[in-house]
Amino acid sequence: MTYFRKRFSIISAIFEALIKPPETVDYPKGALMLPEGFRGALLFDTDQCIGCGLCVRNCPADALHMEKKSRDEYKLIHYPARCAYCGQCEDNCRHGAIYHSNQLVKPTDNPAGLIVVLKEKKEA
Ligand code: SF4
Ligand code: SF4
Repeated sequence: MTYFRKRFSIISAIFEALIKPPETVDYPKGALMLPEGFRGALLFDTDQCIGCGLCVRNCPADALHMEKKSRDEYKLIHYPARCAYCGQCEDNCRHGAIYHSNQLVKPTDNPAGLIVVLKEKKEA
């Protein structure tokens, strides 16, 4: 009896697998719908950034760097190739200046794309 039950469960599993739609996505042929909260490419709101450097200090991957001369003169740089897309910078930024989108990070063959100046503030 156990033998038949096992056989039946295997056959029903095979039929189920044949009938149900694939669990994987058809990307890049089809649209890729990433869920809300997916930690994808970083977005930056230049107007919100005050240059506090908190994101730089807490980045575990050394993917953010700040060249700071004064409060009114600084440059915030992101190195996407080092970034772990961990969300730490978003969590730490009290001004909502840096945050994740739910978009995939696009590859680049342009070396300039490996250094992204997020904000450059110069003294007026
Ligand atoms: S992005 Fe946010 S945490 Fe980073 S320097 Fe700007 S204000 Fe500070
Ligand atoms: S997502 Fe993580 S690794 Fe990338 S810059 Fe922010 S804190 Fe650094």
